[in-house]
Formats: sequence, C-alpha cells, structure tokens
Amino acid sequence: MKKGFWQMVGFVTLLVAGGGAWFFLTVGEWNGPKIAAEGDTSVIGRQKVLTVAFSDAGRGLRRVSVAVTQDNQRRPVATFDYPGAGVGQKSLSVTIDTAVLKLHDGPATLTLTAEDYSLWKNKTAIELPVTIDLMPPQIAQLNSTHHINPGGSCLVTYRLSKPVVRTGVQVGDLFFPGYPLTPAGQSAALPAVQPAAPPAAQPPVAGQTAVQPSVPPTTHPVGQATYAAYFALPMDLTKDTKIALVALDQAGNETLSGIPTQILNKKYRSDKMLLSDGFFNQKMPEFQATIPELRGKPLFDVFLHVNTVLRKQNLLAIQEVGKKTEPRVLWEGPFLRMKNAAPMALFGDHRTYLYEGKQVSESIHNGVDLASLVQAPIEAANHGVVRFTGPIGIYGNSVIVDHGLGLMTLYSHMSAIQAQVGQTVKKGDVLGKSGMTGLAAGDHLHFGVAIHGQFVDPKEWWDPHWIEDNVTKKMTAAY
Ligand SMILES: [Zn+2]
Repeated sequence: MKKGFWQMVGFVTLLVAGGGAWFFLTVGEWNGPKIAAEGDTSVIGRQKVLTVAFSDAGRGLRRVSVAVTQDNQRRPVATFDYPGAGVGQKSLSVTIDTAVLKLHDGPATLTLTAEDYSLWKNKTAIELPVTIDLMPPQIAQLNSTHHINPGGSCLVTYRLSKPVVRTGVQVGDLFFPGYPLTPAGQSAALPAVQPAAPPAAQPPVAGQTAVQPSVPPTTHPVGQATYAAYFALPMDLTKDTKIALVALDQAGNETLSGIPTQILNKKYRSDKMLLSDGFFNQKMPEFQATIPELRGKPLFDVFLHVNTVLRKQNLLAIQEVGKKTEPRVLWEGPFLRMKNAAPMALFGDHRTYLYEGKQVSESIHNGVDLASLVQAPIEAANHGVVRFTGPIGIYGNSVIVDHGLGLMTLYSHMSAIQAQVGQTVKKGDVLGKSGMTGLAAGDHLHFGVAIHGQFVDPKEWWDPHWIEDNVTKKMTAAY
C-alpha cells in the first residue's frame, strides 16, 4: 500500500516536471530571437539595400521590423508578420531610401527588432549607430582632352573630394583601377617620397618610386586625394564605348565623370600565316603532351584547339597575373626594345591562317615579335617586380614583370628563364634567353605590354616623346 502511494507520488511529480519542461521548452520558451545584419551597417548612402538574418530557435518568428531614427523621430522601413508559429529563420533584404524616409546627412540609429511565438512574446531589439552620407564623391579631372590610339594606352589623373572604396576608369565592360598618389588617399598605397634627393645624383632604383613629386603633397586641399589610373583603349572600340571615371564611397554613393578623349585614327595590318604539315609535326605533339584531350587527334584539329580555346585560356591566365600589382610607379623613362632585333610581327596584326589554300583560323597579335640571334639575352624593359615565370600555352616559357599601377610587360617563347617570382629587376636586367617555345615557328621574343591584363601597343612605351607627353607631364602636374 505504502509502496503504491510513493509510486503514485513519483509518477505525478514526473508528470508535473515533464509537463513543465514541455511547457518551458515550447509554448512558454524564454529564448529571444536572434538578429544579425550583413555587411557594413555603419554608413547609409542615398539608397541602401540592407540584408538582415532573423532567427528564432523556439516557437519561431512572429514579427520582425527595421526602422531608422534621426532627430528623435522613428521612421519605419519595413515590418513583416508571420501568421503562424514555426518560421525558424528568415533572411530579409530591405531598401532604405533616405529620400522617402526624409533623412539628412549626419548620425542616425538603425533599429532591428524581432518577436517570437512564445507565450511571453520574447522580443529582441538591436540598435546600431549609422551615419547618413548623401554626398557623392566629387571627381576633378586634372587633364584636358586625351589623345588616344585604338589599342593604345592612356593615363588619367584626378582628385576626389572624399575617401572611396572603389575608383578607376570604366572603358565599356573593362575596369581599370585608380591609385592614390597623395596622403589623403589610402596611406598604404603611397609612393616613398624623397623630396630632398636631386634628380641626377641618384641612379633609379627599382622598387622605389620613379616619379618624384615636385610639390609636397601637403599643399593639396584638406581631405582631397590625387589619383592616377592607366587604361587601355580596345582596338575594336565603337562610338558607343563609354569612357568614364568612377568613384564609389563607403555609403554606396557613386559618381561617374566622362573622360574627354580624342580617338586617333590608327590602322592595323593584316597578315597571312601559311600552315604546313611540317609546322604541325614540329609543334603540335608538344601541346598533345600537356593537354590529354588532344592526344590521338588529327594535328590539324589540335592546331584549331590550340589557336582558339588554348589561346583564350592563356589570355585569361595572363589577366589573372595582371590583377596583382604594386600600387605605385616602379618604372622610369622609355621601355627598352630588344637590341638589334628585327620586327617580325606587330601589335594588332590581324592574322589569317591558311591551310591548303583555305582560311582555317584567325587571331589578333597582341604583342610585337622581335628576332635577333638564337638564344639572345632577354632584358627587362624597365624596373619592376617579376610576377610570373613559367610556361603559358601558346606563349611558351614566359616572364611577366609588374611596373606598378597595373602596367606589365610580357616576354614569351623563351628557351631559358633566369628570373624568379617576387624578384625586383632593373631596366636591362637579363630575364632569360630567347627561344621558340609555345606556338613559335622560329627563335624570337614575343614582347607584350598590358594594363591590368589588357594588351596595348608596346610602341608607345618605347617612345620617349609619347611617354613625356602622355605620362610624365600628367604625373608631374598631378603632384
Ligand atoms: Zn608574337
């Protein structure tokens, strides 16, 4: 009898405890919802898309809301109600439109709230201090009209009224980053300034800035930074190709400023390349050895693959290397052209490939082919840092040298490489020996100049007058 009684008590206790546990774990849970805002919430521009992750581990979300408070006035942005329990998490994107909300420049508070389906309606609210910034960056261009060749290079210098997260030149679909030249920009990217050094007394040292500011940067208006950007003009640009400076601030305010240009009338050549079985026998097995899918295929098909698919892949690989660049000018003076070398092919040559009298393929030559002696020394065209060494498909053994601000030179078809990635080189330093690796029929150097991976005519960079008018004068005026 007694035993049964205690059993009953135990059973009831368990029931109550269990019921209580069930209650406090479900309908009566005390855990508030969680709120996490994504990305940068410290500043809001004219419009901001804010993404917030709301979650509730218990009964689920009942109501979530976003609001902005300025001058003690709460402006609701969005409220979402969930009609039934069980919504565990929601990621919501809301647009904060400062014009609609009548917000002005200055401090404000972003309030994010969430309520759950517990009996207690647990509520979580977070308040984030924000700055409303409605002022887009102002771009002041420091040059008048730029005269540019299709396939050529251009330098643009400009001042920005405030710090930015992204700036540069947009040419159609291509973007060329700009780099700060003065301390009001990001200081990490500053060139080493040596104002006291007389220009002739010190030989140029690779790795140091080659362009010396003529005026101390502190003379610029407070808060304004001077920037420089190189850009490439595509050979195939049309009248509709937009060329504009872009500046985007932290708040998302973006300014576009068209660059005044005069496009010169530059014509490029056409060239015929005669393909032979001898050439296929000489060159194609090498590509079959490195690309398994080409093994066992007719050599003509191998050539078509190499000249189209591989050519494209190689260009993308070079463009990838071009993304890493020193944020300051490393080079000085005209670029070196290979000594005593005859030009075999020019930049921009439109090549038509003929096999057994028929046109079978085409390409655009994106460098200059220079031939002198077999295994001639290949010299760095200017000061810089070696960014790549090794084989690149049709280009064969290659070296890529970074000259800063996205400007690079490419040396291809080499028989030997005598440089290492990360090595600082001076103008004239030997990088290796010429050869005929890759898709070369004879010993020569394929020399390329690229701006952020876009190849341009090297001829301009060999020409001291072009450099003086198009780079040096603009840079000097910018400092
Ligand atoms: Zn070439």
